[in-house]
Amino acid sequence: MPRNAESTAFRSALEVIRGVEPRVADAIGAELADQRESLKLIASENYASPATLLAMGNWLSDKYAEGTVGRRFYAGCQNVDTVEALAAEHARELFGAAHAYVQPHSGIDANLVAFWAILADRVESPALKKAQARHVNDLTEADWFALRRELGDQRMLGMSLDAGGHLTHGFRPNISGKMFDQRSYGTDPDTGLVDYDRVAEAAREFRPLVLVAGYSAYPRKINFRIMREIADSVGATFMVDMAHFAGLVAGKVFTGDFDPVPHAHIVTSTTHKSLRGPRGGLVLCGPELADQVDRGCPMVLGGPLPHVMAAKAVALAEARRPDFADYARQIVDNAQALAEGLLRRGAKLVTGGTDNHLVLIDVTGYGLTGRQAEQALLDSGIVTNRNAVPQDPNGAWYTSGIRIGTPALTTRGLGTAEMDTTAELIHVVLSQTSAGVGPDGTASKAKYVLDPALADKISRQASELLTGFPLYPAVELG
Ligand code: PLP
Repeated sequence: MPRNAESTAFRSALEVIRGVEPRVADAIGAELADQRESLKLIASENYASPATLLAMGNWLSDKYAEGTVGRRFYAGCQNVDTVEALAAEHARELFGAAHAYVQPHSGIDANLVAFWAILADRVESPALKKAQARHVNDLTEADWFALRRELGDQRMLGMSLDAGGHLTHGFRPNISGKMFDQRSYGTDPDTGLVDYDRVAEAAREFRPLVLVAGYSAYPRKINFRIMREIADSVGATFMVDMAHFAGLVAGKVFTGDFDPVPHAHIVTSTTHKSLRGPRGGLVLCGPELADQVDRGCPMVLGGPLPHVMAAKAVALAEARRPDFADYARQIVDNAQALAEGLLRRGAKLVTGGTDNHLVLIDVTGYGLTGRQAEQALLDSGIVTNRNAVPQDPNGAWYTSGIRIGTPALTTRGLGTAEMDTTAELIHVVLSQTSAGVGPDGTASKAKYVLDPALADKISRQASELLTGFPLYPAVELG
């Protein structure tokens, strides 16, 4: 049994946990086993490094640290200051940003911080000035009403959900669609691509305060220089949510017009997707918005998670190493190999391919809904998620798409040859699955028929594909 530092650290941690609640230790161990066995193609997931994971399990978690570096509401934050300053410094250096705020607990939180900062920056509001001059706990009900009245009715223009945008980009049921009067832009119905002329037209008509770019399920690059020109033409603040592709920006695959940082007024991100850090978020901006952004906690965020900021510092330091650029390049090479493999076998892909880390298969070409395809793939050891396609006939629940992404498998070391095999496995499952019927004999959007023997065979082939690419090879839990 290997006795290296990583194995010792994780094994000892589990031993200590087992002494209190063995079921938690078992679940943690089982999670590693599950992750090792599954062909993980969820575009938003990855595998953080052992150093990143270990940075989260320690005493920093015990500290309250409301405020920012050097300006805390609690005493004794010197060590939190150290890790927060380090994470922010690595983020600034990595992305070439003037300011970085690393407290958001997730991507959605980062977006809330950004929306708040933009409103505070752009809208003349005495109630807001009052709110900012004191602690939020000291505001009265009347202060909050005044704030709402003065900040309400501002406009946001973002990418629609079915074109690949995110809920927080103005989707009506989301808080962003309630904070703002919202409108969305879609993609060209023939090509599936963003049509910048139409975005410009929508911006001219709607005159938003905020123009948002960024996506969860758009398989192409976005030209942020053009988007900034559109924002400038209507006096909008230009915000980019790079949650999905931050790793490609960090790894210098997206440069020039496709790097959001030089073009946007404010950029938000998660840290756990292609960036391969801990679960969390961050905000980047110039000096004009920095002060407002730093007010994220306690305005819209709960207390910072110092242990997660420590892990962000570790992961961002890793992303500054030259080998991260190789990793980022490989993510895209792999996604393109996967797309080509699928196309060659007859799959229908939204936009006909990819130039980032994800591929969106339109599974109506196989006579399936996204839900049926997702479950059939899962039965076959292939983990993906269903996703709407533009103008989706099956709606946001059943959907007509399967989103697949390569950041996680690329971390394991799989390359373009393995992506072709993966395409074959996916194609075989989807082409051998048929839609089932409901109890009343009509076509079901959820039920499906797949020979269990075939599902087993594909599962075995999927795990064989992974045997040459062990996950956390240095970690042996015994
Ligand atoms: N923004 C985008 C573009 C996303 O795709 C996601 C998550 O899927 C988020 C924000 C939200 O991130 P989180 O789940 O960390 O809140």
